[in-house]
Amino acid sequence: MNQTFSIAVFHGDGIGPEIMAPTLAILERMAEASGGYDLVFQDAPAGAAHYARTGESLPERSIQIARSSDAILLSAMGLPDVRYDDGTEISPQIELRKVLTLFAGIRPVTVRKGQKTPLNMPADREIDFVLVRESTEGLFFTQGRGEVTRDEARETLLITRDISEKLFRFAFDLAKTRKAAGRGPGRVTCVDKANVFRAFAFFREMFDAEAAKHSDLIADHAYVDATALWMIQKPWDFDVLVTENMFGDILSDLGAGLMGGLGLAPSADIGLEHAVFQPCHGSAPDIAGKGLANPFAMILSAAMMLEWLGVKHDNSALSKDGTRLREAVEDVVASGALLTRDLGGTAGTEAAASAVLDALFVA
Ligand code: NAD
Repeated sequence: MNQTFSIAVFHGDGIGPEIMAPTLAILERMAEASGGYDLVFQDAPAGAAHYARTGESLPERSIQIARSSDAILLSAMGLPDVRYDDGTEISPQIELRKVLTLFAGIRPVTVRKGQKTPLNMPADREIDFVLVRESTEGLFFTQGRGEVTRDEARETLLITRDISEKLFRFAFDLAKTRKAAGRGPGRVTCVDKANVFRAFAFFREMFDAEAAKHSDLIADHAYVDATALWMIQKPWDFDVLVTENMFGDILSDLGAGLMGGLGLAPSADIGLEHAVFQPCHGSAPDIAGKGLANPFAMILSAAMMLEWLGVKHDNSALSKDGTRLREAVEDVVASGALLTRDLGGTAGTEAAASAVLDALFVA
């Protein structure tokens, strides 16, 4: 009998529901065809529109649905015009990271041959690396609680042993899995600012302690400023980069830029028990309701979910479908035949999602 996996679905705001619907349709079709697993979707209401209607942005019931599911699929959330009384925006995706202790933010950066990139890249090169961004502490630790007086503002950066050890273990395991799959040489680079801040010397010390346990992998260090430079000059040299929350926040947008834009940037926020899969972009209110949203980042996030579930539950049908779905999107993008407007083409959401289905089932 097939293994059944429950997926909590946060449909999101703005273009969120528009890119979630075709993604769920693709997942359903793949599960049916696979014969190796079943997926059951359960809606978890949350977000800015939900807050405007009900006064609740992330209801306890939705947190329970997320907690009790095998994985969480989340579309873009937030609307610039809907805010709490203190002026900040509704962002349940950030609250979920804290509530579920999702310490590892995974931001893959891939540019296949033929794919458009702002880099002047040698024709024989491809980019394929993963940025692992710590997602529960660092400079986001005092988010919403910073002290501001008339003359001063203070935020606190927090690095803990507990989270850093989990983060580095995760990063080395990821490099091992990638190496076994023929993706990357098995190298983990600690990205920090240990030349200036004691907190990052502490971060690096814990990285080195984890590195010492993996004689089969390569471990090295890079300062964050130099990393930004090398992401432009020689991004094909990277494999797994692991870094603090704010550094990761900035570098992951640089990574999305290398890929041609946010519309192609998927992500996962992973903890020991739970994981959320979501596109890096926001709810794009400027194009919401027009059928123009690029669904690729959402679909690629769903592919990451299948791969993660496959490894976690030792289910090869899931792992295979995760890879197949990622490659189908990459093939559509690299061929350049059908691109959405944000990537320089003319296709709408429906046509883009159909092209992925065709790549999966017709090609
Ligand atoms: P945004 O990512 O929504 O949009 C930036 C630009 O990129 C816009 O021009 C938009 O049209 C375009 N864009 C984004 N995704 C696209 C897609 N899939 N297809 C085609 N074009 C796309 O960023 P923003 O305008 O700064 O934020 C809008 C709202 O989203 C805000 O309320 C913000 O707080 C929220 N937000 C949410 C997340 C999240 O859910 N993880 C992330 C960032 C922003």
